[in-house]
Amino acid sequence: IRYNEADGWHDAKVTARRPLSIDPASTVLHYGQEIFEGMKAYRGEDGHIASFRPQANAARFAASAQRMGMAVLPENLFLQAVDELVKIDQDWVPSGEGQSLYLRPFMISNEVFLGVKPATEYLFIVIACPVGAYFGSGCVSVWVSENYTRAAIGGTGEAKCGGNYAGSLVAQAESKAQGCDQVLFLDARERRFVEEMGGMNVMFVRNDGKIVTPPLGGTILRGITRDSLIKLAAAEGVEVVEEQIEIDELFEGAASGKYVEAFACGTAAVLSPIGSLRRPAGEAKFGDGTTPGPVSLRLKKVLTDLQGGRTNDAFNWVHRIV
Ligand code: PMP
Repeated sequence: IRYNEADGWHDAKVTARRPLSIDPASTVLHYGQEIFEGMKAYRGEDGHIASFRPQANAARFAASAQRMGMAVLPENLFLQAVDELVKIDQDWVPSGEGQSLYLRPFMISNEVFLGVKPATEYLFIVIACPVGAYFGSGCVSVWVSENYTRAAIGGTGEAKCGGNYAGSLVAQAESKAQGCDQVLFLDARERRFVEEMGGMNVMFVRNDGKIVTPPLGGTILRGITRDSLIKLAAAEGVEVVEEQIEIDELFEGAASGKYVEAFACGTAAVLSPIGSLRRPAGEAKFGDGTTPGPVSLRLKKVLTDLQGGRTNDAFNWVHRIV
């Protein structure tokens, strides 16, 4: 779907995937006005195909557009575009545990203009690709980034824009060089509080049975999986407390047994147990560092059973497409 000031949103069409042709002076190539979403379509046991809380992705996409000074795509057009692509690509939706059709709606500015101002022309596109589990079973290891932060107050941390990821790639590479699977970012001001990971939110299980997760303060992404788990855990009788988590206290608490489990959550990662956190000063292990804990496994099952259409959808989150 295209946007310009004269025609508004127009020219909606589905085509076979092909290269895009844009002018070398297209604004996105110079000023980075680009936003995206990550969603999945799941095939249920009876063959139906459904997405999960797509309205939340549409709303977050609109909020990201607003933050980036871009044209705001009406949420009904976003939802219609995603559903239409899934219907056309329905034979590509795999079945089985951890399998889904990954959906990537995104928008770029595409005005031919060199000059720093919000563009007046945009292009919204959805592409799709079958995927399996992001991480294998077992636990992931996480590197705490002390050299780089992801987002400052007043910045774009809450928007799902490509620029946020551009700035975090070097930290992800550092984490890999340290032998870890993922990176954990701290707050930009003091480098003292846990924020989120490269592409997922993070939660910790305490020995009092509660789960803690960093609050939404404008610098982390409003994860839809995060929000879903807060509500699903409450329905299971587990309270999720949204509060600041000090990194030093977390390392001490992991050693003393105050923090017993940790996990990452997001559309791609679903719920991925974390075995250990590492930083230059040492390592924090959750449990034995390699075996996922019972709370993580239980919540993962609750979430994936719901997404796969195997349990009652009490929150009305499952959106049937086919
Ligand atoms: N934080 C970041 C930086 C992410 O890229 C993602 C993935 N979209 C998340 C958190 C989790 O968000 P969601 O659960 O909506 O996928």
